[in-house]
Amino acid sequence: MKVDDCIFCKLANGEIPTATLYEDEDFRVILDANPASKGHALIIPKEHYANLYELDDELAGKAMILAKKMVTKLTEVLGCDGYNLVQNNGECAGQTVFHFHLHMIPRYKDDGVGLGWKLNTLTDEDREDILSKV
Ligand code: 5GP
Ligand code: ZN
Repeated sequence: MKVDDCIFCKLANGEIPTATLYEDEDFRVILDANPASKGHALIIPKEHYANLYELDDELAGKAMILAKKMVTKLTEVLGCDGYNLVQNNGECAGQTVFHFHLHMIPRYKDDGVGLGWKLNTLTDEDREDILSKV
């Protein structure tokens, strides 16, 4: 399914031209318009799924296999020192485009890219609460 007013449906399906690193029948991999670092790219399925909760299982598997291939190739090409894969679901988690996508962010030594979070300590209460429910 495609959604008419979805920018990523249009980009993934070539309705709007964009810098494309790779394309197959399921995905387009494009350069992010606002890169966190040089080479920041997005894996976007051609079909519309709002987020990971909705994503088709088979495509979820394919997306991770594709990420592995892209990261391996791009590490060689860009000469970066590492990679972050980031995938946001929901506004509170930083999602701004509501069509599933996987960020691939090259990391360079001392690049100052801020993806960090404050490390808390797992409490006994939280541990027991979660383990009792899952
Ligand atoms: P999110 O915040 O939803 O995880 O990520 C959305 C990403 O899409 C952002 O990094 C943003 O820069 C990128 N983006 C939004 N619109 C466009 C666009 O029209 N073209 C490209 N190449 N990237 C876009
Ligand atoms: Zn879409």
